[in-house]
Amino acid sequence: MELIFEKSVAGKKLALLPDCDVPEVEFDAALCRSSKPELPEVSETEISRHYSKLAHRAYGVNDGFYPLGSCTMKYNPKVNEDAAALEGLTDIHPLQPVSSMQGWLELYDTAEMYLKEITGMDAVCFQPAAGAHGEFTGIQLIKAYHVANNDIKRNKIIVPDSAHGTNPASGSMCGYEVVSVPSNEDGGIDLEQLAAAVGDDTAGLMLTNPNTLGIFDKNILKITEIIHDAGGLCYYDGANLNAVMGIVRPGDMGFDVMHMNLHKTFSTPHGGGGPGSGPVACKDFLAGFLPGMRIDKKADGTYDMTAAENTIGSVGEFYGNALVVAKALTYLLTLGREGVPEAARNAVLNANYMKAKLEKEYDIPYDKGCLHEFVISAVELKKETGVSAMDVAKSLIDYGIHPPTIYFPLIVHEALMFEPTETETKETIDNAVSVLLKIKEDAYSDPEKLHGAPHNAAIKRPDEVKAARHPIVRYDFEKEE
Ligand SMILES: *Cc1c(COP(=O)(O)O)cnc(C)c1O
Repeated sequence: MELIFEKSVAGKKLALLPDCDVPEVEFDAALCRSSKPELPEVSETEISRHYSKLAHRAYGVNDGFYPLGSCTMKYNPKVNEDAAALEGLTDIHPLQPVSSMQGWLELYDTAEMYLKEITGMDAVCFQPAAGAHGEFTGIQLIKAYHVANNDIKRNKIIVPDSAHGTNPASGSMCGYEVVSVPSNEDGGIDLEQLAAAVGDDTAGLMLTNPNTLGIFDKNILKITEIIHDAGGLCYYDGANLNAVMGIVRPGDMGFDVMHMNLHKTFSTPHGGGGPGSGPVACKDFLAGFLPGMRIDKKADGTYDMTAAENTIGSVGEFYGNALVVAKALTYLLTLGREGVPEAARNAVLNANYMKAKLEKEYDIPYDKGCLHEFVISAVELKKETGVSAMDVAKSLIDYGIHPPTIYFPLIVHEALMFEPTETETKETIDNAVSVLLKIKEDAYSDPEKLHGAPHNAAIKRPDEVKAARHPIVRYDFEKEE
C-alpha cells in the first residue's frame, strides 16, 4: 500500500478552510520556520480513502474472534463510550475546585465501592495507567510497609515460574531480587519449594490466580500463609480477575494488595496502546501509603480529596485515566450483582467448551480443569510435522481469526494460549475449533502451506522485536528523490 506521501502531487489542494477574515499578523522571523512543512498534497477523496483503507487493515474485537490469552479481549459495549463521552465528564479540568467536580468524585467513590466489594480489599487508588504500572505501585506499597517497620533486610520478591513477564520486571524495577519458584505437575505453585524459598529476606510474593495456565491454585490459603508467616506480603496480579469476579475475592485468599486491569476485565478497548487503567486495591493497613488523592465522603454528603498520610507520592497524573473508570463503572452498573459473576462463569464455560472440543486433537499439558483460558502445546505436532506454534498461529489469520498468545507461559513449550472470553457465541467457538482441526490436518498433508502462512495478510511475518524496538515513524524524503 502506498504511503500518503507517495500519493502526494505538488500543488494538489484540499481547501477546507474558509478565507481568512481577520487581520493577518506578522510574526517575528525568529519564531517562524525557514522552510514550508513537507505535508502530503492530496485530494479530500484520496485522504478519506487512504485512512479507510488503513483502518480496514487493523483487526480488533469488532472484526472477529480474538482469543489472545491473558488479555481478555472481550466485546466492549458501545454504551460505555456514550457514558464516557457525556459532557459533564469530558469538559472538566483536573485543577478545578473540588466543589465543582462533585459528580466526578461521586463516580470515583462509587467505582471504588464496587471494586472493593469484588476484590475484598479496603481501599482503591486509580492513578496507575495499566496493569504493569499497578504492579509497580503495589510493590512500592509493600516496600513502604517494610521500610515503615524498619524491616529493611527484606530484598527478595518471590514469583512463580508461570508468571506474566511484568511480575519479575516490576519486582526488579522496585529494586528487589526476584526469586522464581517452580510449578508442580498440576500447574500450581510447588509448596515445598515455596517453603524452602521464603525467609527473613522475603519482602513478598507476586501471584495471579487463576494463573496463566488458567488454573486456580487450590492451595492459595496455604501459599499466602507461608508468605505471611515469613513476614512477607502477598501481591495479587488481578489480570485474570475475569475468571473469578463476583465469585471469589483476592482479599479473602489472603492477599494484601493487588491491581485490576479495568481495560481487560471491565471492558475498555485495549491492544492499540491505551489508554488503560490499572487501579491498585489494598487492605487497610497499606492504605496510608497509597499514591494520589483519596476521596472522602463527608457527613453532609459532599466529597473532598486528601493525600494519604504516608503516601509514596504520585505514580501518574492526577486521578489516572478517568474516562476508563467511567467506562468500567458503566459496565459494572449494566451487569449488576448477578451479571458480574455470570460473566465470569460464562468465560470459564467458553474456555472449557473450547478446550473439551480440542483436547483429543491437540496436546494440553496442564489439563486438570481450566478456568478462563487454556494452553495447548505444539511440541508433538512440531516433532511429527515440523509445524510450530508460530505456524499454527499465523495460519489462523488466513481464516479471519486473531492468533492466540504464543510461546507463553514459558513453562509450556510451543505454547498456544487461548482465552475465548464470555462474549463469544457457541458458533464462533465451533468455527474456531473446526479451523484448528483443519490446520492440524494441513500440518500432516501440506506443512509447507502452514510455514508460509499467512497467505492473505498485508504483513506476513515481520521481525517483531525490530518492529517494536526500531519502528520507522518518519517518511524518508531523501529516499524519494
Ligand atoms: C496483561 C497482564 C499484565 C499486565 O497488564 P497491562 O495492563 O498490559 O500492563 C500482568 N499480568 C498478567 C497475568 C496479564 O495478563
